[in-house]
Amino acid sequence: MFYKPRLATSELKLLRLLNARMNLTGREKQHYLNLEKGFEGELKFDLLLDGLTGERLILNDLLLEINNTSFQLDSLMIVQDTIYTFEIKNMEGEFYYENHSFHSISGTEIKNPNHQSQRSKILLRQLLKNINLHFPVEAFVIFVNLHFTLYQAPRELPIILPTQLHSFMTTLASKPSKLNSRHTKLAETLLLEHHNESPYTRRPAYHYRQLKKGITCPKCHAFMLKTENRMLMCGSCSWMENLDSAVMRIIEEFKLLFPDQKITTRVMVDWCGGDYSDKTIRRILVQNLSLKGYGRWTYFE
Ligand SMILES: [Zn+2]
Repeated sequence: MFYKPRLATSELKLLRLLNARMNLTGREKQHYLNLEKGFEGELKFDLLLDGLTGERLILNDLLLEINNTSFQLDSLMIVQDTIYTFEIKNMEGEFYYENHSFHSISGTEIKNPNHQSQRSKILLRQLLKNINLHFPVEAFVIFVNLHFTLYQAPRELPIILPTQLHSFMTTLASKPSKLNSRHTKLAETLLLEHHNESPYTRRPAYHYRQLKKGITCPKCHAFMLKTENRMLMCGSCSWMENLDSAVMRIIEEFKLLFPDQKITTRVMVDWCGGDYSDKTIRRILVQNLSLKGYGRWTYFE
């Protein structure tokens, strides 16, 4: 059971919106694509965990802190007698292991994900000690991408390569697990210890003027086209949506991009790309939001 489900981070959501509406710099775009790929890998692993039977509690994307040191866990699973933590990697290509480091086949050294995973394990143990909940912790790095290979990987390393994933899941599934209130308390406490990431860190520089206006598709982020009967259709994947829901959805996006801006009919007509009249947009706002202020200072919340 997913006790804390996985959602796209605010940073990823923000970059998705910006990528659809402006040209990100090369670095920003690469960072965005990395986040997107990482998220895709995490969802892939969630599906595998979801297929396990038995009682278990899964908490995704925990950001924890101990003694002013923060650490992040992609996935944490509580079973009867163990806490498992999983660092999920969706990288692809050929790599080799040498001198405790990962290297791409071209020789470039990359960060050893096992170091991060083991560091998190130590910090989690300290945290558990502090809150007086004693469970053994096992930490694994999971490589989910079928196009990933690691040569010379020592067998004792707690990493699971794509070719081992099936037997690893079978082993996990074979362990009987019954949970009680102690496990629930542990999950609740970890959730209380979780810090929400700030959506405003590392945001690229952007301005309202430079963003392309219009309604983007919730599936593929391409722009949607106005069709008949208050419907819109995605120009790329043909996803259909009714106008009211599309407008409300992009108001949420607007709020994420411009948290300090007030929602007014005039601003939203422009944000929708000018395809809809003041009257139409105002009707949608009136029906779905509450009206604040008077006369020309009217806005919606
Ligand atoms: Zn689409």
